[in-house]
Amino acid sequence: MTDTEKSIVQKIKTVDGCVKIFWDMDGTCASMDMHRTDEKLDKGFFYTKRPIKTILRIMHELNNLGAETYILSFCSYYYQKTDKMKWLKRYCEFIPENNIIIIPRRESDINLSKSKEMLKAEYLKEYVSDNDTVYVIDDNESVLLGIKSKMPQINIVSPIDFIE
Ligand SMILES: [Mg+2]
Repeated sequence: MTDTEKSIVQKIKTVDGCVKIFWDMDGTCASMDMHRTDEKLDKGFFYTKRPIKTILRIMHELNNLGAETYILSFCSYYYQKTDKMKWLKRYCEFIPENNIIIIPRRESDINLSKSKEMLKAEYLKEYVSDNDTVYVIDDNESVLLGIKSKMPQINIVSPIDFIE
């Protein structure tokens, strides 16, 4: 167990309020697959992504210890959201549907001019309250730093910190 994992476990066991953990998908619990650009817009593409088993196991463990597990992820279009939901049903069935936030960046009323970190921070605000202990796990460092600058109380973690 890495120090990061140990300290989250410790928090879950000792803190009075809720521990909420927001996991990114691509590059965090699912493979990134940047080399498959040609297929990226194919229906079903996301469903073929390789699960990152170490991370999925830790997601499950922290959830079983009492953390609330959330997904905070982007896609471009709504149909990709369906693929992602299907993938989550297969690999993370324990996550309640209400805890899944998948933001279709090109097809919604959200302001596209906003940066990814701004958008994630905006969505996060809806889901966290002052008494919560919150972790955001994301492979994109600028997303993490952007969120931290908007919401300094939040703990940011790279998925690499779970790998021994
Ligand atoms: Mg990512």
